[in-house]
Amino acid sequence: MESEDFDCVVVGAGIQGSFTAYHLAKNNKRTLLLEQFVLPHSRGSSHGQTRIIRKAYDQDFYTHMMEESYQLWSQLEKEAGVQLYRRTGMLLMGPEMGEEFLLYKNTMERNGIPTVTLDPAEFSAHIPHVNRCPGHAAIVDTTAGVLYADRALRTAQEVFQRLGGVIRDGEKVIDIKPGTPVTVTTASRIYRAKSLVITAGPWANILLSHTNLHLPLQVLKINVCYWRERTPGMYSVGKRFPCFLQMGSEEHHIYGLPANEYPGLMKICYHVGSETDPDERDRQTDRGDIAILSRYISRQFPGLVPVPAVVESCMYTVTPDHHFVLDCHPSHRNIVIGAGFSGHGFKFGPVVGKVLCELALGRMPSYDLSPFKIQRFPSHSKAAL
Ligand SMILES: Cc1cc2nc3c(=O)[nH]c(=O)nc-3n(C[C@H](O)[C@H](O)[C@H](O)COP(=O)(O)OP(=O)(O)OC[C@H]3O[C@@H](n4cnc5c(N)ncnc54)[C@H](O)[C@@H]3O)c2cc1C
Repeated sequence: MESEDFDCVVVGAGIQGSFTAYHLAKNNKRTLLLEQFVLPHSRGSSHGQTRIIRKAYDQDFYTHMMEESYQLWSQLEKEAGVQLYRRTGMLLMGPEMGEEFLLYKNTMERNGIPTVTLDPAEFSAHIPHVNRCPGHAAIVDTTAGVLYADRALRTAQEVFQRLGGVIRDGEKVIDIKPGTPVTVTTASRIYRAKSLVITAGPWANILLSHTNLHLPLQVLKINVCYWRERTPGMYSVGKRFPCFLQMGSEEHHIYGLPANEYPGLMKICYHVGSETDPDERDRQTDRGDIAILSRYISRQFPGLVPVPAVVESCMYTVTPDHHFVLDCHPSHRNIVIGAGFSGHGFKFGPVVGKVLCELALGRMPSYDLSPFKIQRFPSHSKAAL
């Protein structure tokens, strides 16, 4: 088989790989984006119509990265002439003195994120049809909103191609030979590149096994549940209902988005799922999360029927500390890894892509990447080095 040469090959056309490819093409690098499935597909982590975007975080470094991410999302909207973001605000609810709630509150205050604190009377006036848990406080991150995920993914890929980038879908990478150049083999072709970026989502460890590296990543199946409004429009984006994040209750970390993609149905999900093999996702049939959500909805959202009307599937790839992996391979510096987005990576797509592009080009990254380094998992990665 003859080989084809590129400056950079990116494996995985989810949101992180697509934005990495986009930035590489903007830097005039001849870039190939490889995807195992025919695009678009719904078997990874980046499909579905909506994601929450917010600056509210429990760590300054995420809030800082989100400042630029908002600018880059808006830049892509202008380049492509499409709307990718709708501002709704995000309601953060949790025990007033709870450790996690305070971390979010303090990060927002320190970083001057515009917020509104709602006392119980204001809460009832502004957030109708939601029962607040006793003892819980409520703050709104007014910068937050909804990202149109499928459209965003398609747009990043289209602009990448317009910039001269090449996408080959339906082409699974089956082997990687580290070196300079690095050689990437698919079922039908061989490619050589100065650098390789691996953004393979739930399949990251399968790809990394070709480079003798194993990361402590857990793949979880998430049941994406939509709940019917008793009165259509009650919790809709049109009526300016916000996104929400519920922390610190019996049901740790539940989040929701206003009814939008399926009129009359509100998306509310649990931020934890059950472990799965990414190639056998639907053999994982645990619905314990749905029982938790039903109980929560019966109590807090009286305007929703507490039985899901639609259940879709998606996967998280979770690290032990829930922080991303954004780093060069410890033994092969021209192999760059973006992995472990732990169920909160979509909103960072443009800025993650920028950082992975910088690493692939051997440039100094725009951010301090210490929280995202592989060496924070010494016991797991050492054996492979
Ligand atoms: C239900 C749900 C809700 C979420 N909500 C939010 C939210 O509100 N806000 C937020 O910011 N984030 C959210 N996230 C997280 C976010 O969607 C993910 O962090 C992000 O999509 C991860 O993207 P990725 O590119 O790393 O992975 P993926 O999208 O999985 O992309 C990896 C790609 O690599 C391809 N691939 C794998 N192996 C190979 C191979 N051998 N050869 C070629 N291609 C290969 C796969 O097919 C896949 O297309 C949510 C995730 C889920 C599942």
